[in-house]
Amino acid sequence: MKKGKKKQQKEIPEPGTENRTGISREFAGEFAARLLEWYAVHKRNLPWRETTDPYRIWISEIILQQTRVAQGLEYYNRFTERFPDVASLAHASEDEVMNYWQGLGYYSRARNLHAAAKNIMERFGGVFPTDYRDVLSLKGVGEYTAAAICSFAYRAPYAVLDGNVYRILARILGIGMPADSPQAKKYFTAIAEELLDKNFPDDYNQAIMDFGAIQCVPQSPRCPVCPFTDRCAAFRENRVESLPVKKGKTAVKERFFNYFHIRCGGNILLHKRTEKDIWQNLYEFPLIETPGPATFAEIEALPEYRELIRETGRLKRLRTLPMPDHLLSHRIIHPVFHEMESLRLSPCSMQGEAAATATTTAATGNVLGEAAATAAATAATGNVLGEPTPPEYANPSAATKYIVIPENKIKDYPVPRLIESYLEYTVGTLPL
Ligand code: SF4
Repeated sequence: MKKGKKKQQKEIPEPGTENRTGISREFAGEFAARLLEWYAVHKRNLPWRETTDPYRIWISEIILQQTRVAQGLEYYNRFTERFPDVASLAHASEDEVMNYWQGLGYYSRARNLHAAAKNIMERFGGVFPTDYRDVLSLKGVGEYTAAAICSFAYRAPYAVLDGNVYRILARILGIGMPADSPQAKKYFTAIAEELLDKNFPDDYNQAIMDFGAIQCVPQSPRCPVCPFTDRCAAFRENRVESLPVKKGKTAVKERFFNYFHIRCGGNILLHKRTEKDIWQNLYEFPLIETPGPATFAEIEALPEYRELIRETGRLKRLRTLPMPDHLLSHRIIHPVFHEMESLRLSPCSMQGEAAATATTTAATGNVLGEAAATAAATAATGNVLGEPTPPEYANPSAATKYIVIPENKIKDYPVPRLIESYLEYTVGTLPL
């Protein structure tokens, strides 16, 4: 313990007027000056940099947490065009927000954005808060995002600290402390605050983010053309590949999803995931999750399959299609799709949740648009074929578990990327 402390102090370069981290004011000043000089040449021109609107900065930051800038741009433009301010986002339906988020993944972030927008309406009268602590109190906003919003929008002196910044600081200062430990967080936070240029916190934060994205990247950083080569401990000591140090990798959980793409007279069955799990509130095909890979015969023997049959009527299997593994953070999904035909549900009716949801949707006017109107009409007059709604389900409880929609309307429902990939893959053989 003592040994580590000694080493850590020794690794801070050139202590002059020392403060709590041992970084001199001279070093901090020089660091910021070189960084801003580099930024003046390499700055990326991005639309959210042209604004000081905290709402737009917030949206861009949340989008960029999960996608690269090039892909994020398109989502950002689409999202802010439809939801240009806090009020428009707060008043939208969750389904619509999810639809605009579709493809980005990490759907809990979209739900948090929506909840936070409502919260801003209630607590701040729709005006984005200006105080760092208020910003930090919004759902889904962590220290990094709060610092980014407050420094970019209000020039408040808060330093951003994310994986990029950890990497840069660990390399330049030669910090061998595992970057994912609680002590490291405290230590790196203190360093980041001391290095921050308090006069230009907006430019400084943008600069260090760009530096991590363009220059000091995780693999093969551009050391030969770096403005810090003479001050970078990792470069001097040939430790670039080994810094930052990681304590341990988070365990990856494997999940085995067996989907049932049940077709019935041009309609399909969908299920809305309401459980507290991945993809909450997105739609998917009926699913049976198994603890490991399972053959169709093994699935047929499961009580969950018998339950499905009870709800949908007898099913005929048309084909089984294993799809490539689907990677999420800390999870690998092994998906298999069974394409089935219902011998009992044809033609299908729209009942239960679908009708209720669609009626509400049509009343509030969300993006489900045509589907909502059709569904609402169906709820009022009968099934999607315009016939009186027959009690098609073998088990009435099915009405609350599944919805039946015309197959070509699936694009109107927010679905996980995995379902999208399956539909894209089978598009040639499905009547979409
Ligand atoms: S010299 Fe290399 S490792 Fe050091 S800051 Fe520059 S790019 Fe990063």
